[in-house]
Amino acid sequence: MDESILVVNCGSSSLKLALFDRHLQKTVSALAEKLNRPDAVAHISGDQEPIQLPSGASHKKALHKLIQAFAKRKSFSGQPIAIGHRVVHGGETFREAALINPETISAIQDCAGLAPLHNPVNLAGIKAMRALFPAVPQIAVFDTAFHQTLPERAYRYALPERCYKNWGIRRYGFHGTSHYFMAQEAARLLGKTPATTSIISAHLGNGCSITAIKNGLSVDTSMGLTPLEGLVMGTRSGDVDPGLFDYLAGKGVSADEVHTMLNNESGLLGLSGQTNDMRTICELAEHGHAPSRLAVDVFCFRLARYIAAMTASLTHLDAIVFTGGIGENSPQIRSETIKHLHLMGLEIDPELNQHHGRLSDGRVNSADSRFPVLTIPTNEELVIAREAGRLASA
Ligand code: ADP
Repeated sequence: MDESILVVNCGSSSLKLALFDRHLQKTVSALAEKLNRPDAVAHISGDQEPIQLPSGASHKKALHKLIQAFAKRKSFSGQPIAIGHRVVHGGETFREAALINPETISAIQDCAGLAPLHNPVNLAGIKAMRALFPAVPQIAVFDTAFHQTLPERAYRYALPERCYKNWGIRRYGFHGTSHYFMAQEAARLLGKTPATTSIISAHLGNGCSITAIKNGLSVDTSMGLTPLEGLVMGTRSGDVDPGLFDYLAGKGVSADEVHTMLNNESGLLGLSGQTNDMRTICELAEHGHAPSRLAVDVFCFRLARYIAAMTASLTHLDAIVFTGGIGENSPQIRSETIKHLHLMGLEIDPELNQHHGRLSDGRVNSADSRFPVLTIPTNEELVIAREAGRLASA
């Protein structure tokens, strides 16, 4: 047995696998896409040839193929010491990562009603890996767990109590693994300990969320009962007036159609009318495409409003942190967002920003800025690998 740790991220139509060595360095990773479609395919890091998956491939079949391909690699003996799984919703049951056993599986199943698109596929990955590696400890790491420290005033909606008591309707928050990593990394870069570091962390990928972290703990976050609330995202609307459900019902639009519209046809895609890809939208805006310009404006303005809102939960602020594909790579989005926050005394340094903070330990703010603004690459897989290793040896 070697000392590698496998990380599994089973999404609704894709599957990501990463292998870490004993020093927690990533050695191989794989992405299987378009599962359940005839052209399903997988790519392994460093391999030229994509792996053709069986037509109508399930997560189980794809995992099987990828493990076989991994086994041909020198870095993998075929028996990891632990397997970590990303699980989207842990409800109020899971405040931290958990060793997978029949009780954990049934508790994850119980949370599936809160994340019908995610938890069942996460579970499919867990079950497939348990069949492939019955003797290896497996660990679930939850997107929601880091936010279980939210105070009640931040997690309760102003709804009748029965919504919370009977149906569990409250703010759960997501991207917890990434926000947790930001808290650790920001503290390290600032030369502080996480327990004394307070930040506002903006994770901006295809999904986007922002979290206020007070002395290392999540105290407010923009995503809610589901990952739909809050910031403008690739295809998700973020905040809208809940009155639109009723209004659209009156126009003959069904609940299913509203669900699809808000989750799959809105956000950057809806506003630009072209794509959910921020890089393309910025290019289109640059070339005078007005709907794309508007998409950037709405995105940055909403984000700036949320940054200001997050200060209500903090007594001091060590840094504002940008991460995720957009947060890490787009000087334009960072700069346009921070421009709205002049009253907070925030200022970007154009040169440092252009280099994504690589010249200055992540810092992209000017010397005059009242608070540091950092950009930090996220690494959710590393957090999952660490947690899996820790729990497996405990
Ligand atoms: P996911 O949430 O699927 O992991 P990522 O974190 O990779 O997604 O983020 C994807 C988003 O990052 C896309 O909208 C992509 O266009 C955007 N992005 C990546 N590089 C840039 C860039 N240089 N400028 C603007 N947006 C970028």
